Amino acid sequence: MGKLRSSISGGDKLVCENCGVELTPERIYVHEINGIKHYFCCEHCAHEFERKLRTVH
Ligand SMILES: [Zn+2]
Repeated sequence: MGKLRSSISGGDKLVCENCGVELTPERIYVHEINGIKHYFCCEHCAHEFERKLRTVH
C-alpha cells in the first residue's frame, strides 16, 4: 500500500485533452489540429485547446 501503480499503460481510457474529464464512445468530440486528431469532451474544450496551442508561438 502507498506505492505508485503504473496505470498509465492501460491504454483504452481516453480523457479530454483540455480539462481531463473521462471520455466515453458516446460522449466524445474529435477535433483535428494540424493533421493530428485530438479528443475532447465538448466543442468548447476543443476550441480552448486549439487556442492554447496557437498562443505558444
Ligand atoms: Zn473537456
